[in-house]
Amino acid sequence: MKPKKFTPAHKSNNLAELVCSNSLKSTSPEKASGILKLEMLELDSLIIKAAHKSQLPAGGALAVDREQFSNYITNEIKSNPLIEIINDEILLLPEELNSPLIIATGPLTSSGLSKSIEDFIGKENLSFYDSISPIISYESLDDAHFFRASRYEESEGDYINCPLNEEEYALFHKTLIESEKIEFHNFEKPNYFEGCLPIEVMAERGVDTLRFGPMKPVGLIDPKTGNRPYSVVQLRKENSHESMWNIVGFQTKMKIKDQKEVLSKIPALKNAEFLRFGSIHRNTYINSPGVISNTLQSNKNPLLFFAGQITGVEGYSESSAMGLVAGINSSRIFKNKEPIIFPIKSALGCLTKYISDPSNKKIQPMNINLGLFDVKKPKKNIEMIKESSRQCILEIKNTNQIELDLV
Ligand SMILES: Cc1cc2nc3c(=O)[nH]c(=O)nc-3n(C[C@H](O)[C@H](O)[C@H](O)COP(=O)(O)OP(=O)(O)OC[C@H]3O[C@@H](n4cnc5c(N)ncnc54)[C@H](O)[C@@H]3O)c2cc1C
Repeated sequence: MKPKKFTPAHKSNNLAELVCSNSLKSTSPEKASGILKLEMLELDSLIIKAAHKSQLPAGGALAVDREQFSNYITNEIKSNPLIEIINDEILLLPEELNSPLIIATGPLTSSGLSKSIEDFIGKENLSFYDSISPIISYESLDDAHFFRASRYEESEGDYINCPLNEEEYALFHKTLIESEKIEFHNFEKPNYFEGCLPIEVMAERGVDTLRFGPMKPVGLIDPKTGNRPYSVVQLRKENSHESMWNIVGFQTKMKIKDQKEVLSKIPALKNAEFLRFGSIHRNTYINSPGVISNTLQSNKNPLLFFAGQITGVEGYSESSAMGLVAGINSSRIFKNKEPIIFPIKSALGCLTKYISDPSNKKIQPMNINLGLFDVKKPKKNIEMIKESSRQCILEIKNTNQIELDLV
């Protein structure tokens, strides 16, 4: 809709505007983000190609000159004779479709269209904020400092419990109070539910507030001491092979370096590897499981696709990845071919599965990370993950004869 109408974050008249950081994160093939980008490049992603053409030196990260990046993409789209650009706000989803349509209006989708999407998918399936707790890799936990149990249950339970004694809790609280937080943008009015306050807001209410909230120890006995701990941080599994663990009730606006510092005060998390950092954002996104399939088609109308961040992924590369999948699949539907389901051996498959898997009842936006691969100890098995991803994308490319020059 730009430049006729702007969201509160967009300023440029051009396409592919990076509204905040100019980094598309790591290119290292040892990292999930690097694996995703290699797959996208193999499938001829315009976004990743543009990023390489406008790359700035930034260590292992793919940082770009945002003007050059956006100009390159705008020129490619504008000079393509098969693309017509119409700069208008879409207010309604069409009632009927004869050919594929992709909705990719992002985390700040304007209000008229949001209402129409909500009417189509159900009010309960569209969120306007994310409120995210960090996810930690199992491989990085210190097993000398946690125990498995569910509250009030005697057998080994579903949760990983990380106890803190009084002294450890006091240090944790002090470090949290002193940590730096990310300011809200002026269009993001914090309007917290009491049930999901950021940990730093709770900590400011008093030294014991967290101990009576997400860090309460009731119903838990540490088998090492035979006692109830002074306080406990609980981790809940985020995937069936237990490589990703979500810190229960730890949504936060702390800066990334502060999240690392504060959580390192919890003994079991001393060397925690973050698969996803905590955050609280203004973010319009679909609770995709049950609403869209792993081909990014709407379950209600397979001619309607969703792409980009609105599908429940998080980040520039991940949003572009969902554009690539929706682009390939909508063109295949247009040509009466079967859509491609990317296998979970690929990063593209991991993301599409995560957002569409009906066994995930309610999703919070997800970035690509090694924990999403179907491997118990992904860091140890990184060579196998890299090779499977490469093979699987080549196979898809060859067997489906994806026309790389789609437009
Ligand atoms: C303020 C902010 C900062 C962010 N910072 C980062 C960051 O630093 N790093 C990172 O990796 N990710 C960041 N993200 C998250 C996300 O990765 C980016 O927003 C990414 O650009 C999403 O891509 P997209 O294509 O889905 O949506 P967008 O890039 O937002 O593109 C959607 C387009 O649709 C247009 N539009 C909206 N409604 C309508 C309508 N009704 N009709 C027609 N057009 C419409 C918008 O104007 C926009 O041009 C940020 C998000 C926000 C909101």
